[in-house]
Amino acid sequence: SKAKLFDQNTKVKTTFKDVAGLEGAKEEVQEIVDFLKYPEKYTTLGGKIPKGALLVGPPGTGKTLLAKAVAGEAKVPFFSLSGSDFVEMFVGVGASRVRDLFKQAKEKSPSIIFIDEIDAIGRARGKNAMSGSNDERENTLNQLLTEMDGFGTNTNVIVLAATNRADILDKALMRAGRFDRQIYVDLPDVRERKEIFEVHLRPLKKSEGLDLDFLSKQTPGFSGADIANVCNEAALIAARNGKKAVDKQDFLDAVDRIIGGLEKKNKIIT
Ligand code: ATP
Repeated sequence: SKAKLFDQNTKVKTTFKDVAGLEGAKEEVQEIVDFLKYPEKYTTLGGKIPKGALLVGPPGTGKTLLAKAVAGEAKVPFFSLSGSDFVEMFVGVGASRVRDLFKQAKEKSPSIIFIDEIDAIGRARGKNAMSGSNDERENTLNQLLTEMDGFGTNTNVIVLAATNRADILDKALMRAGRFDRQIYVDLPDVRERKEIFEVHLRPLKKSEGLDLDFLSKQTPGFSGADIANVCNEAALIAARNGKKAVDKQDFLDAVDRIIGGLEKKNKIIT
């Protein structure tokens, strides 16, 4: 069977409207949207458009969502792959796959390449010397660096990458002309959780007077992904109980269930 190398989406529908909270991060990526849409505006004064930016933050906080929204706002194709899939699936061919990816993205430029879990490829070299796939990973990383260095200033492909472990990344990735910008994507505070609830409640039939301030206060430490889960779970619980609308109790039950799941996950890790 032929494993899929990367996803290619030429009609991204996601926009900044779908991304709740993250005001600072959105402001920073707005500039990238602008680079993609109006490159001449920047290059005319001799400036170089950045080639890459690193989205840094805990799991489920909307890094992938934000990267996709950049493509949606700029109306450019979105090429995406996950670092961990990459290392697992393409033993022996990682470097040539990276070359293919960049070749396609350049052909379709302006475009975005998004690399999720870049730490799987971009861990500092020389660590984990015992692991057999280490040379392979390093070849893949080197090819990634080579591709980014090889971009001309007018290529207009911007590479976004996500990680929750910026501390373990090879410093070579952060050098000027590579991922030289870091954009922080943090867990939402109570006000931002309310905004995220608003986004994910849009498609639900909810009971009147549902108190979003209350729900936001009940969910400290929840990521955007957790809140999306709560909303979906609440709708399923309500349906299972034959209700016509999703009410406060359904949300509370869903919150309990998600907290239970999070605790289990943490137990496995620690
Ligand atoms: P990971 O590090 O685990 O890959 P991530 O930071 O890339 O996570 P996403 O995959 O973007 O997180 O988020 C998963 C889902 O959670 C999104 O598709 C969306 O439904 C929801 N979500 C996360 N953050 C937000 C947000 N700020 N606004 C609205 N929805 C969000």
